[in-house]
Amino acid sequence: MTNPTLPDWYARAKALKLDGRSLIQGRRVAAASGEVFAKVSPLNGQVLLEVARGGAADIDRAVVSARQTFDKGVWRNQTPGARKAVLQRFADLMMAHRDELALLETLDMGKPIRNALGLDVGAAARCIRWYAEAIDKVYDEIAPTGPQALALVTREPMGVIGAIVPWNYPMLMAAWKLGPALATGNSVVLKPSEKSPLTALRLAELAIEAGLPEGVFNVVPGFGHEAGEALALHMDVDAIGFTGSTRIGRRMMEYGGRSNLKRIYNELGGKSANLVFADFDDLDRAAKTAAGSIFYNQGESCNAPSRLLVQASIADEFVARVAAQAQNYQPADPLDGATVMGALVDEAQLKTVLGFIASGREEGARCVAGGEQVRAESGGYFVAPTIFDGVRNDMKIAREEIFGPVLSVIRFETEEEAIAIANDSNYGLQAAVWSTNLNRAHRVARQLRAGTVHVNQYDDDDITVPFGGVKQSGNGRDKSLHAFDKYTELKTTWIRLD
Ligand code: NAD
Repeated sequence: MTNPTLPDWYARAKALKLDGRSLIQGRRVAAASGEVFAKVSPLNGQVLLEVARGGAADIDRAVVSARQTFDKGVWRNQTPGARKAVLQRFADLMMAHRDELALLETLDMGKPIRNALGLDVGAAARCIRWYAEAIDKVYDEIAPTGPQALALVTREPMGVIGAIVPWNYPMLMAAWKLGPALATGNSVVLKPSEKSPLTALRLAELAIEAGLPEGVFNVVPGFGHEAGEALALHMDVDAIGFTGSTRIGRRMMEYGGRSNLKRIYNELGGKSANLVFADFDDLDRAAKTAAGSIFYNQGESCNAPSRLLVQASIADEFVARVAAQAQNYQPADPLDGATVMGALVDEAQLKTVLGFIASGREEGARCVAGGEQVRAESGGYFVAPTIFDGVRNDMKIAREEIFGPVLSVIRFETEEEAIAIANDSNYGLQAAVWSTNLNRAHRVARQLRAGTVHVNQYDDDDITVPFGGVKQSGNGRDKSLHAFDKYTELKTTWIRLD
């Protein structure tokens, strides 16, 4: 029975006017080739809309538009205060369109509407607002050269930024690029994932409505090997802010080398380790967090702690607690406001995740929760929250990023062993240590090779701190004031004083 106090998301979805065309120089346009591709809904396997299949010609139009607006200075030459006001209006408009943006995100990539509403829209708007508020508070430098010179070290916008983002948090990942890139005066060409183009296109419309000059922010949807490659290879793009898989991150480095040596900032995959020591005094909270942070967003989170390392003396009891928590994440209709676990993004991802589950079984890990597709009758792509116990760190499910609701539990005896297992990975995005022993918490945190180490929590987060990885998890840092470094060049102006 429908709850009269909750919005009827189906009725709202029906009323939406979906538009999959590119947005270039302030106008919605079809692909130069006239081609489209079918965007299938993860909720039911039905075609949601046809999206412009952007290619090299479309990317070129968008880059020309971005370059011209940059060269004319219509955005970069506005005062920081003026840019701030426009971006604040942009954030306001995002919040005013909160329901619509959340609905687009859910329809596009399958996350529960309550998560899209509760996290994605608010966090994306907050990110834009935070960079807007920061930009008129950062100062340039005067170098300590002595009395014979005045040497100014100033930050200048780079020019045209190509942003290429994934489908797991489409709006938030776009905002992490747009906030610092636009606040510093750059023009942007955004290539959303072919699996989730809708919110990116709507964001560009809202930015223009907020007063961003046309041509400063362009969006070209399309496939990675077509639109994405054209953007990364373009000779007039100054930097690529990439978030996606390590496999494609590798290609990004090649594209930079093969074209104009543009800067490549890679934010890539992860296989984060969550270390639970027997001395931690609140195992219920640790278990709740271990389950919540792997099963949130259907496990499609780069920083999901997909390897749970538990000290052997508490392992049986702890795994039972995590398995009990997993029951709270049974997949259900993403458009039902009560649902906490939605659909995987598409059939390919469903097959990938089921393939990993099969490999876990084949390699001898014990499946203690889930392990199967569910709700197949819906036509959508749903997998039960899955836990493997008895995993060895050399198994495929411990080494490769699954990007689905699958947790691998590895037991350890000593602190040294736990650190060694955690660091024995190609990835280094995040890690966590749970211990009530302050010395141990610090000692272990220092030795874990990861961009972020959580202590006695996993989910706490804020725009004020950098986000990014080491090793094959990437080289860039989104969020915080450090993100300004990615989209600005330092210029020295040396003035001789006679
Ligand atoms: P992906 O690498 O397949 O695609 C990411 C983007 O790159 C998409 O827009 C895609 O169209 C484009 N692309 C694909 N092939 C391309 C090519 N040959 N040339 C240019 N562009 C190309 O990744 P995905 O499946 O969309 O996203 C999941 C991955 O993203 C996971 O590995 C996840 O860990 C990672 N991720 C990382 C972070 C982070 O901040 N580190 C955040 C979110 C997701």
